[in-house]
Parts: sequence; structure tokens; C-alpha cells
Amino acid sequence: MSVHFKKLALVGIGLIGSSIALAARRQGLVDVISIATRRQETLDEARALGLGDIYTLDAAEAVRGADLVILCAPVGAYGALAAAIAPALAPGAILSDVGSVKEHVVRQVGPHVPPGVSFIPGHPIAGTEHSGPSAGFAELFAGRWCVLTPTEGVPEADTAKLVAFWQAMGSQVECMDAAHHDMVLAITSHIPHLIAYNIVGTVADLEASTQSEVIKFSASGFRDFTRIAASDPVMWRDVFLTNKEAVLEMLGRFNEDLSVLQRAVRNGDGAALEAMFTRTRAIRRSIINAGQETAAPDFGRPHEAPPVPEPTQVRDHGGGDDA
Ligand code: NAP
Repeated sequence: MSVHFKKLALVGIGLIGSSIALAARRQGLVDVISIATRRQETLDEARALGLGDIYTLDAAEAVRGADLVILCAPVGAYGALAAAIAPALAPGAILSDVGSVKEHVVRQVGPHVPPGVSFIPGHPIAGTEHSGPSAGFAELFAGRWCVLTPTEGVPEADTAKLVAFWQAMGSQVECMDAAHHDMVLAITSHIPHLIAYNIVGTVADLEASTQSEVIKFSASGFRDFTRIAASDPVMWRDVFLTNKEAVLEMLGRFNEDLSVLQRAVRNGDGAALEAMFTRTRAIRRSIINAGQETAAPDFGRPHEAPPVPEPTQVRDHGGGDDA
């Protein structure tokens, strides 16, 4: 299905918003891109990058006359943004978002959606640990999944149009219930981030001499956690504030399984440990087979040259990661 929108409004223009702008433009999916953000400096950056055609600090102004509006701000801001843009939404428009949680978005945004506007929440499962307008790139969504959670009463033609939009940007699309999305993402994304934040936080609390050794020998495993733990603090704060039930449910299961491993270590139960690690290896193989990860050793990092030291390895402001 070929798809085209006259005016795309992006409310929030960080990693995800800018990637949509670049991909939609490259694929010729829109005539006009209108961009709204909160701070003047972000707007100036977006303008300097040539991401859109209209730039404003007024979200309502940005969405006026748009036939596709996508909220691309942290989910904690959605309620206020929805209230602000509601009176300016055009009848017949599709309103969507990219937030990493979905039930909260339905609860916060849903009540503001005027009749005649199709509200179809979405979540591209794609990201990097960087943020801001300069972090975006047109290929971000290529080969990645995008989940849509259409709300009740939305015309099927509108859902099909949004599916086609994401497919044209390279995504594979699946529609599901918002609660199911939140449970799946709790275990595939939210809990892994919590674990990464926790282990890196534990190191941050170690005494200085041990800490410098951890950094020196980080390639033995810790380094991979630091990439995830460099994800944007505000975005991830909002994820845990808004997907509390699903995260606590999955964390309960995680803790039970961790206790089983703890017992195996204490009892020197090699068979139990080996059986578990064999099962987990098979999961990684299936992710590679599904085309969601490279089969190259060490995540495809080059090993010919000595690694360049990264002074900002533990960043205090990065982006999300496949959130
Ligand atoms: P980002 O790079 O940090 O950009 C966030 C954008 O939202 C900026 O333009 C920011 O504007 C704007 N914003 C922040 N607070 C706002 C507020 N209160 N009102 C209006 N605008 C506000 O973030 P991102 O990584 O693109 O993430 C955006 C959304 O995508 C989040 O909902 C996140 O859950 C979702 N997501 C992220 C990833 C990922 O890996 N990063 C993956 C999938 C989905 P200013 O700079 O002007 O403040």
C-alpha cells in the first residue's frame, strides 16, 4: 500500500522524532514536516539540521492542519501535551506516539482525543544510547519492529495507513493490545535497563581503587552494561513510573530465578548452572536468526586496532536503547 500524508507534525524532536523526520522525507511519505519542541536551543538545532519545514515552540500550532501527528517526547509529558494540542487537531487526523509504554499513554492521552481523530499509539522498538535532534538517522527503523496498539473505534483504514507509514520507513509492524505490549517490553527492555542501571550503580558506589580496576577490566562483561546504563535518565525515569505493574511482575519472576541461580552457585551445582547457560545461549542464537543482532563476535566490535579510550563511557545524558 502506498502511503502519503500532507502534513506530519512531530511533537518532540530527539533521537526518535528526528529519525522519523529523516526517514519520512527520504521515502517521500510527507509533503510538509512541522516540528515542535520545548526548548529554543533544541528547535534551533533541528532547524540547523534541516529536519522540517515549520518550527515552533507551540505544540498546538505545530499540529494545526496536520493529517499525521506523532508525539515524540518523554511519556511523562504526554498528558499535558495532549491537552494542549487537542483543540488544534484536525478532524480525520491520525494521532500516534512513539512512547516506550502504552497503557499509560492510552490513559493519559485518550481522554483528550477529540471525536473524528484516530488515536493509534505506537512504539518503534529501535534506538541507540544517544539523544537529541543530531542523534537521529534515517535508517534507525530499518529491519526493526514497530508495535501499534490501535484504540477502540479507530477505522481499520487509518490503522492500515499508519502500518504502511512504518513499513515504508523499513519497519516490520505488529498490532497488539497495550497491556500485552507493556508486559512483553517489561521483560525485553525495561528489566534489562533496570539491571544495567543497578550493576553500574553498584560500581559507582565502590571505593575508588576498585572502581578504577572495574573500568580497566570492563571488557570482561561490565562494559556492555554501561552502554545500556548510559540511556537517557528522564526517558527511563518515565518508563519506570508509568509501567510499574508490569515491571514489578517481571521483576518478581526475575528475583525468583536469581535465587535459583544463587542456590546453584552456593551448592556448587554445576549441572544446574550448565543447563541454564545452555538454554540462554539458544535464546541468543534465535535472536541472531531473527535478524535482530549480528552473529559477529563481541557484537561486531573491531579488534585490529587498539581500542580508543572513551572518556565519556559512563555518560550522564545519553539516549534510550531499543526502549
Ligand atoms: P530525546 O532524544 O531525549 O528527545 C526528547 C524530545 O522531547 C526533545 O525534543 C525534547 O525537547 C522533547 N521534550 C522533552 N520534555 C518535553 C516536554 N515536557 N514537553 C515537550 N517536549 C518535551 O528522546 P528520544 O530518545 O527521542 O525519546 C522520545 C520518546 O521515544 C520517548 O517517549 C521514548 O520512550 C520513546 N522511545 C525511545 C527510544 C530510544 O531508544 N531512545 C526507543 C523507542 C521509543 P527539548 O530538548 O526541547 O526539551
